[in-house]
Amino acid sequence: MIRIRAATMFWLKVVLLTSSFWPFRLVAAEADVCVVCGRSIVDVLYSIEDKVTLEKRHVCKACEQSYPECFVCGLPSNTNCVGFMSLPDQRVLCARDARTAVLREEEGLRICREVRDGLDRLFSRFTTFPETNVTVGLVDRVHLLDLFKLAGNDYHCPNVWGITQTKTNHRELEYHISLMTGLPFSWFQATCAHEYSHTWVGEHLSRARKASLSRDAEEGFCELVAFLFMESLGNEAQKAMILRNAYTRGQIDLFVAAQRSYGFNEILDWMQSGADDQLASTDPGRVRKLEPRHSTGPPAMDLSVNRAAPRRAPDALVLKAIFWDQKRPLALINDQTFGVNEEAKVRVGTTNVLVRCLGISPDAVKLRVSGADQDQTLRLK
Ligand SMILES: [Zn+2]
Ligand SMILES: [Zn+2]
Repeated sequence: MIRIRAATMFWLKVVLLTSSFWPFRLVAAEADVCVVCGRSIVDVLYSIEDKVTLEKRHVCKACEQSYPECFVCGLPSNTNCVGFMSLPDQRVLCARDARTAVLREEEGLRICREVRDGLDRLFSRFTTFPETNVTVGLVDRVHLLDLFKLAGNDYHCPNVWGITQTKTNHRELEYHISLMTGLPFSWFQATCAHEYSHTWVGEHLSRARKASLSRDAEEGFCELVAFLFMESLGNEAQKAMILRNAYTRGQIDLFVAAQRSYGFNEILDWMQSGADDQLASTDPGRVRKLEPRHSTGPPAMDLSVNRAAPRRAPDALVLKAIFWDQKRPLALINDQTFGVNEEAKVRVGTTNVLVRCLGISPDAVKLRVSGADQDQTLRLK
């Protein structure tokens, strides 16, 4: 996104600085007010798209050059403005976007629960979304980028705001969703819906289908679920943003069109046993074309899908997984992800304990539990 903006800015500058007869230049210079500092623009005008409202905003040269870029809206954010926020991972948020940013873990987890329940309600006629074998955590951008780089993950989702990691544990799949802190509320909701859709794919597709399905199609499906979820909330801005996102290389548009023409059930059938590995723009009706061997009976599944009882927190600290990376290993303990020297509350039974992670090796983690007189080491089972 930054690169696209830089390129746009370059051409804009070329136009503004080389073309003295550019028709809008004088008008803009006299009438325009910089959206960042509020002063009249007398020199060069920068037109920058606000990535939240998708409107073009006019910014003066001084603001463009002196303020850091808000990672949400892409506009220079006034560091003197009350409410301006600088995050520990170097991102900055303008005052407006800081107001709706999801920053705290508890808030993020609550939103995730609401999104998951909302998905279940919205699609109750068709399917359910995994619940008991999914854990969720919030990470900053540095941490998230590291997760993208980790070797050994089954699948990398290129959505830059979240990632779903899949682990096999005694032939059962477990998922850990990491969502980036600082996202505006509705971006966070959409990202959450997207990542839960990856867990649905993990649970409902046969191994063969997972292998053959194109990644763009999987991402397109996840974006469709997020799109329909935002539609159920009446959030047109977020829907527009999902459609503008180019990273599914057009699959999202084909998924939306197919859903409108044939319904969501046909989409789910195609995901599980479609004859093609992605949706074709030339023949939308092929979404109804299923592999003959799959077209009757339930789809082949890797594992049991409906676990009736919600999973309660373990009664002790349990090391569930290690995402090994020499520079930044991560340990998943109960429902919480830790890097080395990180401290967080972990759910144990019906209470929380404060845990500090002292060290991580490929198969064990060393911990200090608040109030305990000895450090302890947990090993992978
Ligand atoms: Zn902003
Ligand atoms: Zn994805």
